[in-house]
Amino acid sequence: MERIKYEHLKNLILRNRDLAEPINDLACYLPMSYDDDNIIIKVPYEPMVCPDCEGKGTELQGGLKGLAFTQTDIELDPEFIQDMCSGRYDVACKSCKGSKIFKYSPKIDHLTDEALEELFLVFTKLDDDRRDAEAEAYYESRGEY
Ligand SMILES: [Zn+2]
Repeated sequence: MERIKYEHLKNLILRNRDLAEPINDLACYLPMSYDDDNIIIKVPYEPMVCPDCEGKGTELQGGLKGLAFTQTDIELDPEFIQDMCSGRYDVACKSCKGSKIFKYSPKIDHLTDEALEELFLVFTKLDDDRRDAEAEAYYESRGEY
């Protein structure tokens, strides 16, 4: 598999890592079929820099996470924004518990090209489904659906 496609696959799997079924702390199952979830492949875990905090070990505390601030907000309360940027409202990252390392990244570099292509198809479809569901939930929450 081409390097760029392989990297894309790694990202797809990470983004949808709740679809990986843990066996123990060392390995997990990945789905190998879109229609039949009995077709799975067992792969070991490998540690990686935490994708959620990007290796910072911290994240903004619950209520502030994902909020977008406008220019007006920033002008109204510049101190708050400054505090936030300097980490005053940070808590330990939930995914890595502050260790900066995410231990449960499925390791796929030993798989055959055929298996990687199969995983690519499955995870592309599953990722599309997820995006569709998220978009639907978003429009529903705004009463536009
Ligand atoms: Zn983290």
